Amino acid sequence: MSEVRIGQGWDSHRLAPGRPLILGGVRVPSEFGLEGHSDADVLSHAITDAILGAAALGDIGMHFPDSDPKWKGSDSLVFLRHARELAEARGYRIVNVDSTIILERPRLRDYREAIRNKVAEALGVDPSRISLKFKTAERLGPVGEGRSAESQAIVALEAAS
Ligand code: MG
Repeated sequence: MSEVRIGQGWDSHRLAPGRPLILGGVRVPSEFGLEGHSDADVLSHAITDAILGAAALGDIGMHFPDSDPKWKGSDSLVFLRHARELAEARGYRIVNVDSTIILERPRLRDYREAIRNKVAEALGVDPSRISLKFKTAERLGPVGEGRSAESQAIVALEAAS
């Protein structure tokens, strides 16, 4: 049996009026969007960290420091693709991704397939390998109060033979 490695990622961004809400590279219509140095795509950041974690290649801040003007307003799919390339260069391929976005509103269910397809494309895998779940925080805490969004991801890599 080939070696399988698991990685975990988590991210959080503040919500602000007038910012685009971009999740997995897909722009979701909303009055509030995520604030950050890049496009603040909380889902792509969590998955990027999970891939880096599975390959023991550090974290997203190490590879894409927010002090670097190069990444200002950056499309976070670039981070996803780069993490995949780093993992592949180490001889790994992505088996599957399981992820969750925790956001009070808007409702995301109509965007699930578009986001899965976009993430799958960036990672060079079939969309059937990308799971995406949505939750609210039941009006509790900063996420529940609509002040922020969070995302969690787990990724499995296997040694490409
Ligand atoms: Mg982030």
